[in-house]
Amino acid sequence: MIPYSRQAIDDADIEAVVAVLQSDWLTTGPKVAEFEAAFATYAGATHAVAVNSGTAALHAVMHARGVGSDDEVIVPANTFVASANCVVYQGGTPVFADIDAETLVMDPRSVAEKITPRTKGIIAVDFAGLPCDYEALRALAEEHGLFLHADACHALGASYNGRPVGGLATTSSFSFHPVKPITTAEGGMITTDDETLASSMRIFRNHGLSSDFRQREKAQTWEYDMVDLGWNYRLSDFQCALGLSQLRKADEFFARRNAVADRYDEAFEDLEWLQTPARLSDRTHAFHLYACQLTEAAPFSQRDVFQTLRAKGIGVHVMYRPVYLHSYYQKNFEYAEGTCPVAEQAYRRILTLPVSPAMTEADVASVVDAVRTFPAAYSSLS
Ligand SMILES: *Cc1c(COP(=O)(O)O)cnc(C)c1O
Repeated sequence: MIPYSRQAIDDADIEAVVAVLQSDWLTTGPKVAEFEAAFATYAGATHAVAVNSGTAALHAVMHARGVGSDDEVIVPANTFVASANCVVYQGGTPVFADIDAETLVMDPRSVAEKITPRTKGIIAVDFAGLPCDYEALRALAEEHGLFLHADACHALGASYNGRPVGGLATTSSFSFHPVKPITTAEGGMITTDDETLASSMRIFRNHGLSSDFRQREKAQTWEYDMVDLGWNYRLSDFQCALGLSQLRKADEFFARRNAVADRYDEAFEDLEWLQTPARLSDRTHAFHLYACQLTEAAPFSQRDVFQTLRAKGIGVHVMYRPVYLHSYYQKNFEYAEGTCPVAEQAYRRILTLPVSPAMTEADVASVVDAVRTFPAAYSSLS
């Protein structure tokens, strides 16, 4: 099976991890600050705060923003559940905004319609790796006094108007799960130019303590103060060493994902039943996912394509089911079907094709062949 995405690990990555395993620090050591500094530079921000997952990163931002039970935060409907769960962790209410039918990212017009006196912030998600319309979202946030967070888990390496993802909103967060642009197995990062927010998140990831173990060792003191209620969301040193090594290849991974997407675009251009992903001239695409959509002309269903391609070893996927349609959200919130009609329709049409830097030319050719020959294979079956 050619997976929808997967890690690319080389000897340099392995050596970097082994070197840390042989050192004095397995966690809270020098590699954390080194990875943070390199990541901040790459993402075009002043500060980077490492945590142990993309979910922890989202939680840290919602905490630093003081989201509470009276607050609503606007989140796109078509995202991984974690983008909305972080609001619920804080007792707040996620309010779902619809997406643009072409680009599949949050539609600023829908965001504007969902703003109420209780709205505290907006979480934008760069779905599939395409940056949102940050100019429009920043203007909305400023006009209504809202915070703007970018869940950029899909989009490391992409840019908008020439500026890298990581510096497009006041805070941005990333995941280093193996399917994401770079990996530390599990891991996450927040970038920001705001020193107060960065400091609050560093405290939050370490139980709410005012200093970490390494800082106390340096200062030759045992004393610490718990100034806030935090969690253990620390990222270990060998994971940060892997992250540093992966970050050196981020541009190469980005280029390889784009090369696969270019091949698909060209190969599927003439298919009337398939619409390839939107490209916009003011931003680049990180292609965490290659999300195409069945057109209205398609004489077969999403499930037909899914099952036939899977049977051929192509790890085609469907992302995402609108968050509010999941049982937990249906049980605990009042979101009717039809809340975000565009996201619901997209969910019935989307098919994501495998894309990763680990794919070989032969892998890409098999996907192209399986997709192009699908209608013939399907009609001979039925
Ligand atoms: C992967 C992902 C997350 C969660 O990251 P983890 O590291 O798996 O916790 C959050 N939001 C989006 C959009 C993601 O794709």
